[in-house]
Amino acid sequence: MPSRTDQQHVVVAGAGMVAYRFVEALRSRDDADRYRVTVIGDEPRPPYDRVALTTYFTGRDPEDLHLGGDVWQDPLVTLRKGTTVTAIDRDARRVQTDRGDDVGYDHLVLATGSYAARPPVDGRDLRGCFVYRTIDDVADLRGYVETLRADQDRPLRGVVVGGGLLGLEAAGALQALGVETTVVEFASRLMPLQVDDGGGAVLRRLIENLGVTVRTSTATAKVLGARRGRVDGMRFADGSSMPADVVVFATGVRPRDELARDIGLSVGERGGVIVDASCLTDDPAISAVGEVACIDGRVWGLVAPGYTMAEVAADRLLGGAATFPGADSSTKLKLLGVDVASFGDAFGTEPGCLEVSYADAVAGVYKKLVLSDDARTLLGGILVGDASSYAALRPMIGRPLRTDPSAYLVASTDGPPPDDDLPADATVCSCNNVTAGEIRSAVTDQGCCSVAEVKGCTRAGTSCGSCVPLVKRLTDGALEEAGIAVAKGMCEHFELTRSELFNAIQVTELRTFSDIIARHGRGRGCDICKPVVASLLASLGTGHILDDDRGTLQDTNDHMLANLQKDGTYSIVPRIPGGEVTPDGLIEIGRIAKEFDLYTKITGGQRIDMFGARVEQLPLIWKQLVDAGFECGHAYGKSLRTVKSCVGNSWCRYGVQDSVAMAIRLELRYRGLRSPHKLKLGVSGCARECAEARSKDVGVIATDKGWNLYVGGNGGFTPRHATLFAEDLDDEELVRAIDRFFSYYIRTADRLQRTAAWLEELPGGIEHLQDVVLRDGLGIAADLDAAMERHVASYRDEWSEVLDDPVKLARFTSFVNAADVPDPDLRYETERGQRRPVLIAGDRLEVRS
Ligand SMILES: Cc1cc2nc3c(=O)[nH]c(=O)nc-3n(C[C@H](O)[C@H](O)[C@H](O)COP(=O)(O)OP(=O)(O)OC[C@H]3O[C@@H](n4cnc5c(N)ncnc54)[C@H](O)[C@@H]3O)c2cc1C
Ligand code: SF4
Repeated sequence: MPSRTDQQHVVVAGAGMVAYRFVEALRSRDDADRYRVTVIGDEPRPPYDRVALTTYFTGRDPEDLHLGGDVWQDPLVTLRKGTTVTAIDRDARRVQTDRGDDVGYDHLVLATGSYAARPPVDGRDLRGCFVYRTIDDVADLRGYVETLRADQDRPLRGVVVGGGLLGLEAAGALQALGVETTVVEFASRLMPLQVDDGGGAVLRRLIENLGVTVRTSTATAKVLGARRGRVDGMRFADGSSMPADVVVFATGVRPRDELARDIGLSVGERGGVIVDASCLTDDPAISAVGEVACIDGRVWGLVAPGYTMAEVAADRLLGGAATFPGADSSTKLKLLGVDVASFGDAFGTEPGCLEVSYADAVAGVYKKLVLSDDARTLLGGILVGDASSYAALRPMIGRPLRTDPSAYLVASTDGPPPDDDLPADATVCSCNNVTAGEIRSAVTDQGCCSVAEVKGCTRAGTSCGSCVPLVKRLTDGALEEAGIAVAKGMCEHFELTRSELFNAIQVTELRTFSDIIARHGRGRGCDICKPVVASLLASLGTGHILDDDRGTLQDTNDHMLANLQKDGTYSIVPRIPGGEVTPDGLIEIGRIAKEFDLYTKITGGQRIDMFGARVEQLPLIWKQLVDAGFECGHAYGKSLRTVKSCVGNSWCRYGVQDSVAMAIRLELRYRGLRSPHKLKLGVSGCARECAEARSKDVGVIATDKGWNLYVGGNGGFTPRHATLFAEDLDDEELVRAIDRFFSYYIRTADRLQRTAAWLEELPGGIEHLQDVVLRDGLGIAADLDAAMERHVASYRDEWSEVLDDPVKLARFTSFVNAADVPDPDLRYETERGQRRPVLIAGDRLEVRS
């Protein structure tokens, strides 16, 4: 180590998140001992995780937020807390503090961050007015509310001025303190910088559903005061007013650049110390990093660009040549428990770009992707209500999507495609600038064997945490590639695989999610395990799909028993077994469609799909279908969809068997069967294969002697022809073989694994399956038969049961608070004689250029 006199002295003004990151980056490098570092901060504590400030209100100890315990033990690092840098002498290279220190430096780093601005309105400094930036701010807010509450016997009323990211954080804090909260936003929507009108509308509804009142397009004119200078109300520019006991200003931040201004360093038009790509100011002995810096002409109000600047400044001091690579304003947050993410060119400013969006007004989800004009390259996006695809999408900005964009948008179907081929240079963790290649290399080159080790080694996922699901998938993929065993648990709540959980539930006979997770898992569950448990309970024939706590576990389609469409309405598909329907049945379907003005379309599965039903219309339509002799069908869900058939030997000259009768028999037998993924069947009356049975999970093709059975086919994104499983079966042999095939698949497949993928991964492959199903090689055939008999015996028409049950029926209202009120946002136009949703930018699912 160089002697103390040889060492250069780096002084850091400000002890926030970025200052901490700078010190850590500098000290972690090989030749770091060239420098000793003094960090001077005016807050009375070490740097802390400001991003997680709101957790203070949910009981988190503020000390848990402190950053970098080890760094402050380093003998070459000194932290001076509670000390303000008051002046800089550039010529002498010294800083002065409010404690009378006069500290020399070789290099000075300005990391003074921002302060929270109060708008220039009368009364903004009254007692009861707060900002939301530091631990002291939130502690003062809490103390004030608690003291006031002790004096009042009525609920306290709070106003947050500003409906952006910070405003909603502050609203969450007031809610947590039990204060009746109103958010006042000048713009026409919440979070105007992150989300568009469509996202803003869904966000508003979600926030209002949490009991927060939202006033948009409202300018604050004055804070009204009462006795002893306390806040007691607000007046707005439109002349209206409201009572208020506490006011929190969340109207933006301003860089704390006063030290730099005092010594004549250049500052940006809107503040911030101007730095070049190496984070140097006009003075080569002074750098600026974080929210106080103006780089590439702008000040970044996010932590990730600040961390990048810290790395660059540290690298430069150590002789490196790093430059600021630029940043984007991607953010993913949970505000008041509501997921919001905005990334890349979220507002579609690129000329000719296309937007694909999806809205589910009922579930409170809005998603939009912005694509290049050839619809291939992802430019940006907005996710509100469900940001689970953010981790997969964020690294793809500027790259071609690997699949249809809708795979990323539609709620909890198969989820986004696997990340195996994510390019090595794609940034996975934007907070710490970690690429997919670095994560894979942590496993293959540095021996990491778990996500925790990869996080420790690369820092990926250690800041905001939004990339952790993707880090896990990449880590698991690299481990598998290297032949290292990967924990196969379904998700962080269950260490069991789907099939292990199936067996566990069967044995323990538990019937509610809460009991099952208490016994076999931990925590409160997630979007992965909840639908799986609901599906397993249904596969085991344990009651109605909406019984007990199951309704809330399901994906949207399952819990609404209908197919969600892009405009937030639903489609209904009456079951038409084998595609056979009488003229009277057709007339009834037509009459019902006409009465409810439903768009009708023949589907690829030989059914009639009726689109455009509002939630509150679903039971009315079901009732009329039931009265006309139909039941509804599963055109959704992980369950039997259709059994497609050709016309067979009753009409066709070539037919050798009655394919329609067999299709009807199979559809009525397996209807309602819940499984790891959707199930489709096809029956053709001869080898000409007009029903395209070999593209189905189960394909049946007539022969002169009976039926050939094929399994494991599918169409879709990765088509696969079904494999011949057994030949020339008679009717009973055929049905028994299909019974066992399905029972075994349902018991042993992974979640969302179609029969094709299951068969490919099944140890022993098709031969093993033939052994189990046709020759009872495992001795479980009777069990498999019994499971299917139980299903057939317990089948009930789910839709009719809802009609007979007032509790279940109550779910089918358009809004949480109002029954039978159509959603006013739904708009239509006429096309080819039928109605269709209007396509308007930022409205609902649409593609526009
Ligand atoms: C509630 C909240 C939620 C947030 N959520 C997110 C989020 O989800 N994602 C995201 O990216 N960002 C978020 N941010 C913003 C993020 O916290 C900032 O971008 C980050 O803290 C900036 O770090 P910094 O070190 O530049 O500034 P700061 O963290 O502000 O640190 C600067 C420090 O310097 C001190 N200081 C200033 N002047 C002097 C002086 N003259 N002498 C001594 N000390 C001085 C200040 O008191 C402060 O302690 C959030 C901020 C808040 C308040
Ligand atoms: S598959 Fe054979 S029986 Fe069926 S319609 Fe085609 S030709 Fe006729």
